[in-house]
Amino acid sequence: MFLKKGFKYRLEPTNAQQELFAQFAGSARFLYNRGLEQRKTAYEKEEKTITYYDQNNELVALKKDEKTSWLSNIHSQVLQQALQNLDRAFQNFFQRVKEGKKPGFPKFKCKGVHDSFRYPQGVKIEGENVYLPKIGWVQFRKSREIQGVVKQTTVVREGDHWYVSFSTEREIPDPASPPISEEKAVGIDVGLKQFATMASGLENRPTYISNPRFFSEYLPRLRVLSRRLSKKVKGSKNWHKAKKQLSKLHAKIRHCREDFVHKLSTNIINSHDVICVEGLNVANLLEKGTRNLSRAIADASWRLFLRCLEYKAKEKGKHFVETGKYFPSTQTCSACGSRKKMELSDREYRCPNCSIVIERDLNSAIVEKAAGMSVLQGLQKNHIFLGIVRACGATP
Ligand SMILES: [Zn+2]
Repeated sequence: MFLKKGFKYRLEPTNAQQELFAQFAGSARFLYNRGLEQRKTAYEKEEKTITYYDQNNELVALKKDEKTSWLSNIHSQVLQQALQNLDRAFQNFFQRVKEGKKPGFPKFKCKGVHDSFRYPQGVKIEGENVYLPKIGWVQFRKSREIQGVVKQTTVVREGDHWYVSFSTEREIPDPASPPISEEKAVGIDVGLKQFATMASGLENRPTYISNPRFFSEYLPRLRVLSRRLSKKVKGSKNWHKAKKQLSKLHAKIRHCREDFVHKLSTNIINSHDVICVEGLNVANLLEKGTRNLSRAIADASWRLFLRCLEYKAKEKGKHFVETGKYFPSTQTCSACGSRKKMELSDREYRCPNCSIVIERDLNSAIVEKAAGMSVLQGLQKNHIFLGIVRACGATP
């Protein structure tokens, strides 16, 4: 099977190279924003759609134009990638419209936020140096070996530092899948109170993973910096300064999050063969709390957590099921399978049918594990509760 993986390292550029990075990222942003404006106007005025090919064909003329001739200093493929990013943003937008979801029109990019550029090819790696076309050899901190063939290379600024990330692909022999055994199964529910609640094995052994300290630790500062930024005049010198401080903090939080999630997911995958999660596309998750800063941190962490679980399971041939596709786990009783409406404030599941009382997230985790097992064992949807009854050791 083909395994896709990303490897990210901190770059050690010279001052001159940093200048070039900023120029490359600036040009990519310029083209992206210009293209977005173009598409927007064409659509609003003439209901016309401008494609990636139209915009790509324009590049030659732009490089010859005196006003934008500086674009010819930038590697062509980096410019094309920026236009492709824009195209992808539009494709996603149209897809969401088609699916009747809240669409979210593509946004303009701000200087200092997600400054980045990408090469589809032409990058070479030798030891702790990477060759970026039209920039040259740049040193990076090689913290681990790169596995697979490098497909794309992205250079990105996070806070004060520049990073390089290689997306790689490699073919590995299909790993032998362990048998589907409930003893080695786990149901995982993510939430705001605990980062995750797990139910493992035949006895549904509960494990609670508390929210990592950085969730609350950086929150006050995040609030202060966000408020400070909102009070500055957009585009002013102080605004840029505040923006930079904020993006530095965001970078710090992102690194903590990656570290926490990688360790946790590796642990879970190593100690289980069947991993059952509710899945993040489930609407139920959206109602779990309001939109705010702490929620945004949690959201991003859950997303990364589930993605890590999925790819690590795949890599090791373990079984991964997203049960949210089948039914709402929050509303289902883990003991008898009956359902009732749950309010957001209900911290316990109190079943009117079998009178069990159980902590809300643990109930969901047990239900997810049972549902995942049923799905894997190929039971029909309407028989799904057989799995739950068996999982709890109760009789109907
Ligand atoms: Zn019940």
